[in-house]
Amino acid sequence: MTLDDVRLRGEEFSPNDSKVINIGYNHAGHWVRFRLKNSGTATLSRYLEFRSLFADQLILYHPSQPNQYQNIRSGRMVPPPQRPHLSRNFVFPLTVPPGTNDFYYLYVESADTLTIPLYLHTDKGLQRTELASRSWLAFYQGLIATMTLFSLFLLVTLRDRLYGYYIGVIVLHQGLFFTLFNGLGYQYFGLEDPWWTREAMSVFVSLSMWMIMQFGRVLLATRQEQPRLDRVIVLTQYAALAIAVLSLFVDYSLSIRLANPHGAMTATVMWVVGWNSLRKGNPAARYFLIAWSTLIVGGLAYSLKAWGLVPSNLFTEHSWQIGAAIEAIFLSLAIADRINTESRQRIRHQQEAQLAQARALEIQRKANDMLEQRVKERTEELREANRKLQQLSDTDQLTSLSNRRSLDRFLNHTIARARIDRKPVAVLMIDVDHFKPVNDTHGHQVGDDSLREIAGRIQNSSRWPADMVARYGGEEFCVVLPNTDRESAMAVAQRMRESVASEPITTRIGLLKLTVSLGVYAAVPTENDSADSFLEQADRALYQSKKEGRNRVTLIGTT
Ligand code: GH3
Ligand code: MG
Ligand code: MG
Repeated sequence: MTLDDVRLRGEEFSPNDSKVINIGYNHAGHWVRFRLKNSGTATLSRYLEFRSLFADQLILYHPSQPNQYQNIRSGRMVPPPQRPHLSRNFVFPLTVPPGTNDFYYLYVESADTLTIPLYLHTDKGLQRTELASRSWLAFYQGLIATMTLFSLFLLVTLRDRLYGYYIGVIVLHQGLFFTLFNGLGYQYFGLEDPWWTREAMSVFVSLSMWMIMQFGRVLLATRQEQPRLDRVIVLTQYAALAIAVLSLFVDYSLSIRLANPHGAMTATVMWVVGWNSLRKGNPAARYFLIAWSTLIVGGLAYSLKAWGLVPSNLFTEHSWQIGAAIEAIFLSLAIADRINTESRQRIRHQQEAQLAQARALEIQRKANDMLEQRVKERTEELREANRKLQQLSDTDQLTSLSNRRSLDRFLNHTIARARIDRKPVAVLMIDVDHFKPVNDTHGHQVGDDSLREIAGRIQNSSRWPADMVARYGGEEFCVVLPNTDRESAMAVAQRMRESVASEPITTRIGLLKLTVSLGVYAAVPTENDSADSFLEQADRALYQSKKEGRNRVTLIGTT
């Protein structure tokens, strides 16, 4: 209808008694009529504010001359610089001359839900209103900017991708979307094209939904924890991207009709996911659920207002945004809580690892102790075995006297020592007399018995511990007497001879009378002397004893 049509049907207007005319989704154009009176004498300057951004076309018809109207155009399809007054909302400056008492007509049309909040201001009143709304918006913007910078800082330091998604959410949703939603796109970014005040919003709201779903998926680890719902989220995310792309091509009235139910879908899915997560005991879900619920309540209140189901007031106008601000804060708490939980877990794991390490060390230490003990025992056993072996290898089996090997070593050592000390050494060679017939008559075992007994008697006749009595071989014995001169050696030799001759030898077949012959050599060893030369001399003396009739001692000596 044209203005003239409307004026002709003036009686069809119905009075409005609510503060804000609330129409909801309705694409039709609507006409509003109001009367302004100036009964004073001065021209009045007034401002008509249309306090909503969701009007595509606004045409104000104001009387200029009697029965003549002029119009001023505004609305979001009019680029901000061409609007009658540069303001966040749509404001019409009016000049009301004295004597005015006329109807003003306003044509309104929108592809969005339609409310018609009209306010008439004086100059100062408009300023006050704008200041109030600017203050609240500046506070909101400051909050979001701070949260963004703070999270950016945390993202860089902590390198947790969750902060990346968080920043994505608040930049897209709380930041860009609400900047456009509040009609500040032109003021902040110089966005003149009407596209930015309509189509861009469904793009941003869809991208925001995608981002918050991504954030929720990572925060609550839905892929692992709730795989079925995770698939639903992923599908909803694809839908969000599809709507964002579609918004670039299809008409706004269609894309906003897709974006709204999609928003409701997202709200429901994410709430259920958060609730499940909370029930499963994820502490971060608590904050997520608070954040998400606040946004839902805020958005719901706003939607109900838009649909005309609840009255439009300061709260319902801003509820969505207030919800979003609280959401931003609680989402950041959710991340902080998750990081907290993780670091607590890390510390616990660290402590457990330390404990395990300490236990392992203890076990190792015990094993080492045991091993050390074993090694000690084995070493001792080995030493004992070696000692026995040494003894065995130095001992004659039959008589238990020192053997020839041992004798040689001892004699060499004794002579070397005596040479230095200039002390005499005596060597006694002892041979059993007529021993062969014993073997021949009574057998070797009786011979052995005799040899054992004779050995014992000779051994017992040596009194000094430094002396050595050895079996030289066969039925021959050798005695080394260190530090012993001729006379002493002779005495020992006689004692030994006597020990055998004095009493018969006990054997398995009875007593046998046996004697021994001895050769004694005693001298202080010179440079030319050796063990062999001493033995040779003693042997010569023995030979002499044998020749002279046996059972006697012969001495050769130089001292
Ligand atoms: P003599 O020395 O007085 O001239 O006469 P003999 O009969 O003792 O002669 P000789 O020293 O040559 O003989 C050594 C004998 O000693 C030979 C062997 O039968 C005996 N004999 C040597 N070694 C052993 C031994 O280990 N056990 C026994 N039963 N007899 C031995
Ligand atoms: Mg002999
Ligand atoms: Mg003999």
